[in-house]
Amino acid sequence: NRQILLNRRPVGAPTLEDFRLEQQAIPQPAEGQVLLRTLWLSLDPYMRGRMSDRPSYAAPVPLGGVMVGGTVAQVVSSRHPGFAAGELVLSMSGWQDYALSDGTGLNKLTGLAQPSQALNVLGMPGFTAYMGLLDIGQPKAGETVVVAAASGAVGSLVGQIAKLQGCRVVGIAGGETKCRYVEEELGFDACIDHRAADFPAQLAMACPAGIDVYFENVGGAVFDAVMPLLNTGARIPLCGLIANYNATKLPDGPDRLGVLAGTLLTKRIRMQGFIIFDDYGHRYGEFFAQMSRWLQEGKIKSREDVVDGLEQAPQALIGLLEGKNFGKLVVKVAEA
Ligand code: NDP
Repeated sequence: NRQILLNRRPVGAPTLEDFRLEQQAIPQPAEGQVLLRTLWLSLDPYMRGRMSDRPSYAAPVPLGGVMVGGTVAQVVSSRHPGFAAGELVLSMSGWQDYALSDGTGLNKLTGLAQPSQALNVLGMPGFTAYMGLLDIGQPKAGETVVVAAASGAVGSLVGQIAKLQGCRVVGIAGGETKCRYVEEELGFDACIDHRAADFPAQLAMACPAGIDVYFENVGGAVFDAVMPLLNTGARIPLCGLIANYNATKLPDGPDRLGVLAGTLLTKRIRMQGFIIFDDYGHRYGEFFAQMSRWLQEGKIKSREDVVDGLEQAPQALIGLLEGKNFGKLVVKVAEA
């Protein structure tokens, strides 16, 4: 059983030395347990937070502990009355080949053409996009919705759901290839490269009527460009701040907190953070039904960035924090 452990708490961007691969014997299930084999491991930005011991909404991974992560796994053997060998489940097995479970938190996966969708459009990222946009963003037809990390797991879905609500949708992404995909494949009205020298001017041109909903995934320089374009009554679902995750200090330059507060005040803007399962876990069924319908109707597209082999997970997570992924990042750990 290969396991990837947290070897050291990173300072700034994680490096390969912050992880450690160990081999253990495959564990045997006790009465009431199942043995799970990981098929797919999801890699997500929140994992950077779990590598730190800064106070947060969730406990950190202990030093020497298995890295946490959502997985699609197969029941290898079962001594639990509710599960049978061969069944596929959504689990939190983490970065390892095999894990034991007493069934708590396992969800059986049936009828999925592509089981890894349970980590993507039908899972945590999809749910985040759906609730953040619709419940907090409350977009109305004709309004302008802007989303950053627009080719990624959450952002790609935010924009497509906003299009289904009749909005003008502008994405922000890193580089021409991602921007072309967002416009041509996902059907956003425009997508602007945040690495372009004149990015703020290009964003302003793409939002001639200002911004009514800004779905925040990134923070940093992207938010600086968005702030002056926000309309009176704008809503900002505050989902993530990936530009800050590796930061070790506050950014240089003038303090813009006063400008932010002034903008929120005079324009009566509502900015609200959320942690998807903590705040919306009770509405997962509603999301799943609607998203399944949209998928069946061909109204939503999603893209996976598949990395082959558990041992590649550390490098892939490092890359995710630098924008190297193109679509939902998943690790193929084993064949069913
Ligand atoms: P993505 O698939 O979008 O991958 C992350 C992307 O972030 C990168 O590909 C890159 O895209 C972009 N990025 C990284 N660094 C920067 C930077 N400095 N400036 C601008 N863009 C950057 O990840 P997810 O869709 O899984 O997650 C998106 C956001 O949603 C994250 O902030 C995450 O923490 C948050 N999230 C929050 C949840 C919640 O419950 N609140 C739940 C799930 C996700 P590009 O190359 O286009 O710049």
